[in-house]
Amino acid sequence: MTLAFDAARALAGLSLPGQAVIDGARVEAASGATFLNVSPRDGRVLNPVASCQAIDVDRAVASARTAFEDGRWRNLGPRQKKTVLFRLADLMARDAEELALLESLDVGKPITDARSVDVPLAINTCRWYAEALDKVYGEVGASPADRLSFATHEPLGVIGAIVPWNFPLHMAMWKVAPALAMGNSVVLKPAEQSPLTALKMGELALEAGLPTGVLNVVPGLGPTAGEALAQHMDVDMIAFTGSGSTGRRLMEASACSNLKRVSLELGGKSPQIVFADCPDLEAAAQAAAWGVFYNQGEVCTAASRLLVEESIRSEFVARVVQIARDMVVGDPLDPATQFGAMVSERQMNTALSFIATAHSQGARRLLGGERIRQDSGGFYVEPTIFDQVAPDSTLAREEIFGPVLGVMSFLGEDEAIQLANDTVYGLAAGLWTTDISRALRCARKLKAGLVWINGWDACDITMPFGGFKQSGFGRDRSLHALHKYADLKSVSVTLR
Ligand code: NAD
Repeated sequence: MTLAFDAARALAGLSLPGQAVIDGARVEAASGATFLNVSPRDGRVLNPVASCQAIDVDRAVASARTAFEDGRWRNLGPRQKKTVLFRLADLMARDAEELALLESLDVGKPITDARSVDVPLAINTCRWYAEALDKVYGEVGASPADRLSFATHEPLGVIGAIVPWNFPLHMAMWKVAPALAMGNSVVLKPAEQSPLTALKMGELALEAGLPTGVLNVVPGLGPTAGEALAQHMDVDMIAFTGSGSTGRRLMEASACSNLKRVSLELGGKSPQIVFADCPDLEAAAQAAAWGVFYNQGEVCTAASRLLVEESIRSEFVARVVQIARDMVVGDPLDPATQFGAMVSERQMNTALSFIATAHSQGARRLLGGERIRQDSGGFYVEPTIFDQVAPDSTLAREEIFGPVLGVMSFLGEDEAIQLANDTVYGLAAGLWTTDISRALRCARKLKAGLVWINGWDACDITMPFGGFKQSGFGRDRSLHALHKYADLKSVSVTLR
């Protein structure tokens, strides 16, 4: 009762951003078009949001270009740039509660996660790149005595950042912070399912003193606003996180327009491998359950394939099922909730259809599998676990991006690695063993951009994030992300 009252009070005072941020101002789309932003918590419309079209994207890109060419941001000294980015982080910290509430409402994620994970990590990312921006050094080449040759990192220009809905603010900050830190201008296109925190962040950037035009936010649909950005002749790079099909489309658009650079963070079908000599079965079981069910399974690194050594299979799987069964599923705005709503009716139906396919292909359901909380009007699917998943079945091969775990077993290291790598994806992989040689041998053999040994998701902003194979290319996080938003320029001075 108290919790419901708190939620109602918080919502009553909340203002929902719905206008684009273009050329330093909050504006409607030129056509006046809007799309309806629905909360998956209860299926109700939250607010109409400006639906940007090509003409709005043109304005945003022109503003970003002008800002870049006249140097109002790129030519500021490192200290001045830092001051602005730190101020942005401070403003996000000031409004953290509001940002968390917007994120939870827009995406259906538990408010507790939005408060303790999404918003703090976005703030930390902003601060980290503010601190890092003057730690990027060029190189002096081995020149003959009458010449001095050096290479500098030059900002690319106008960056189009297209981001997904699962961690809207955090993913946006993974692109925006390093791109700005390197002196670029940015046009950010949030996902249509989750525009609120990106719009709020655009407003806070203006308040922080980021010069006009340096960060524009254009909400809109993928095939209109996103496509216009992807095809734009004056955008120098698209930094993308999202699905493989959109990633392919972005590369086509680049090829058909100005050969803009493209970086892709795509999906995954990440394996969690548990050997019989696992050092801590309870910790591994927690990691196996939360590795796939955190954020309702809407995580690109979700550990959606559990590979267990046959000798511990039944005991281990029973533990995972128990942990999943105990998860508190409920209203995302209730602070006690650990597992909330899926982002949209469409995403929910996709998960339910994968569940139906798993049944029809002979997997054995151990837990869940149904839509729940239908009375709320929202889009909820239970944590779902299938055992005896065939390696060539849909459940083993396709990314679901929902709360569905498939269990397989193996009989030794070779089979574990073979199963783990038997996927077109290569984003993350985890393994549990006390044998250090085996751990490092497996880490070498696993075809994944992130490998976690005896832990899951055990790294932070200091480590590069991104995939092998069809999980994409280019890295977010770490100093490597700064280089993604820059070109190398070689300068040679002949000494006369
Ligand atoms: P999506 O590709 O449909 O949408 C992502 C973004 O692309 C949205 O902003 C959308 O509006 C935009 N978009 C869609 N069509 C476009 C087009 N033709 N041109 C330009 N932009 C377009 O993906 P989704 O279904 O919203 O997100 C889920 C997917 O994202 C999953 O496959 C997941 O694995 C992946 N993902 C990957 C990572 C990662 O870091 N690797 C992180 C989160 C999500």
